[in-house]
Amino acid sequence: MTGPRAEGLGTRARGGTGVPDLYAVLGHPIAHSKSPRIHAAFARQTGQDLVYEAIDVAPGGFAAAVWHFRARGGVGLNVTLPYKEEAFALAQARSARAEQAGAVNTLGFEAHDRLWGDNTDGAGLVRDLTLNLGVTLRGRRVLLLGAGGAARGVIGPLLGEGAAVVVIANRTITRGEELAETFRGHGPVEACGFADLAGRPFDLVVNATSASLQGEVPPLPAGLLAPGAWCYDMMYADRPTAFVRWGEAQGAAGARDGLGMLVEQAAESFFLWRGVRPDAPAVIAALRAAAL
Ligand code: NAP
Repeated sequence: MTGPRAEGLGTRARGGTGVPDLYAVLGHPIAHSKSPRIHAAFARQTGQDLVYEAIDVAPGGFAAAVWHFRARGGVGLNVTLPYKEEAFALAQARSARAEQAGAVNTLGFEAHDRLWGDNTDGAGLVRDLTLNLGVTLRGRRVLLLGAGGAARGVIGPLLGEGAAVVVIANRTITRGEELAETFRGHGPVEACGFADLAGRPFDLVVNATSASLQGEVPPLPAGLLAPGAWCYDMMYADRPTAFVRWGEAQGAAGARDGLGMLVEQAAESFFLWRGVRPDAPAVIAALRAAAL
């Protein structure tokens, strides 16, 4: 076994108590989170007896909310915006990939209330790209747009898959340079501004900016996509995002939004908590068909 479970992280499903195990996602805002539906579907698929809630945590209340959840008997948590860095600080044991990401999206309680933290976002992206979409990463030139928390969480996993280079292009160039410096020892990584990309073809372009939230695409030069290149937007929506539409217009072999990453990172959390791997592609298909 490799990964955080091999590092001694992960909680054994208790089961057999007659009371469902309690999980939740903490964030702010949280009302539109798909995580409760995703984990309920995983539980049905795998016959696991659990309840999964969405809890809105007001700013300043994160640590108190975690321990209140524990006092209610909770055993595991997902953490989303804006609390992933606070979760990192709160965790008493952290996986290597959480250390790389500088952020935690999965928490679990062990005996004596010891809290472990992991980050499954990068694994979720890699699994969606390689297993669900059939995108090869080994030896490929990857362009990563953005240098925020989401970008940071996926650089290590992309390099770990053997990408030939990960080029970080960000609006604020110094932020991208700092990130590249952080990952210098993990593989070939560079940073630049959007205008510096002219004339450089890539095999995969991952959008980790929040520009899509405003329906915008970063100002990218034409001709960025090598033959057969893919575009992947970490943001997801009911309709094709602005970046997915950009990729299609540029002739990408495939362009997808981040719904698959969302479900795959959840599946990785579920595996850490329960020790069983759910069928993520079935849940992705159900969400896309609005049947969940
Ligand atoms: P963040 O930390 O706030 O970083 C935002 C990034 O976007 C920064 O690099 C920022 O550049 C850039 N940016 C914002 N507006 C821009 C614009 N108009 N043009 C160009 N660049 C712009 O946000 P984050 O947490 O990294 O999240 C980024 C995206 O990833 C969000 O859409 C989020 O929903 C998505 N996400 C998806 C998943 C999933 O499971 N699918 C998981 C995590 C995140 P500056 O540095 O110059 O400000």
